[in-house]
Amino acid sequence: MSIDLHCHSHVSDGKFPPSEVVRLAHANGATMLSLTDHDHIGGLAEAHLAAQDHGVNLINGVEISVTWRARTVHIVGLNFDRHHAGLPEKLAQIRSGRLTRLQKIAERLAKKAKIDGVYEGALALAENPDTVSRTHIAQFLCQNGHVADKDEAFKKWLGDGKPACVKHEWATLAEAVAMIHTAGGVAVIAHPARYRLSATAMRALLEEFIALGGQAIEVACSVHSLNERLNFALLANRYGLYASRGSDFHGQGEYGCIIGRPPELPLTCRPVWQLFEHQEH
Ligand code: AMP
Ligand code: MN
Ligand code: MN
Ligand code: MN
Repeated sequence: MSIDLHCHSHVSDGKFPPSEVVRLAHANGATMLSLTDHDHIGGLAEAHLAAQDHGVNLINGVEISVTWRARTVHIVGLNFDRHHAGLPEKLAQIRSGRLTRLQKIAERLAKKAKIDGVYEGALALAENPDTVSRTHIAQFLCQNGHVADKDEAFKKWLGDGKPACVKHEWATLAEAVAMIHTAGGVAVIAHPARYRLSATAMRALLEEFIALGGQAIEVACSVHSLNERLNFALLANRYGLYASRGSDFHGQGEYGCIIGRPPELPLTCRPVWQLFEHQEH
């Protein structure tokens, strides 16, 4: 028995269709799963059908891209009403800049690295043009021998502050949290250790998030070390936040994570799924 509240399908930048993601999670022992595609809830209908077949408790999910103090932060929404009016349009609005951003990144790579065909190449790898992401660009660079693996693509070109990194305005923190709350869900700060914030900046993020009504933080995820898990468990308790747990699975063998079986929450945490019993979706 396991719980995984963060993973991706090919509706955003994951490798597999939603039904396959659910099947794999179930095969690995997940009894509760949330599919959290980037800025998109289009995979949830298919995921629910597969979850019914396998007897998995599928929690509606999404991972919203946010710009906070000129950095990108991800806010996961869990257990909202996916039919809530206006939600698909608001998410489409967040996705709407992805094609122009891809164009800019492609121009940078052509100019600075003499790598051509990035725009068409990345789009060809994306299931939906409006969810085309840096993951698809990294995949294109790999497949064409420009880098050894995706990690190198981010370290050399695509990561924050690297030569092909293009500044982008996503949703504000307030907008993302409001979208989730309006649809009846719980907002979660995703993979907090990834942002490499100073202790002061992390406190500011948590305080702003809590002032907006945010309730949870991802404590256990594949990119967190054991130490980071313990530190964020302490921080969650200090701030009265619920703790979430997710693999952030995109495809086999990435970040060493296993779909359906993320690291466990430290025992001191209040699990975020305690909140689901009091919600109605
Ligand atoms: P985007 O939303 O287009 O900015 O792309 C962000 C996505 O790139 C994340 O959701 C991850 O899936 C992926 N990503 C970010 N950093 C890395 C990294 N260092 N190595 C591999 N994938 C990464
Ligand atoms: Mn991703
Ligand atoms: Mn993320
Ligand atoms: Mn993710």
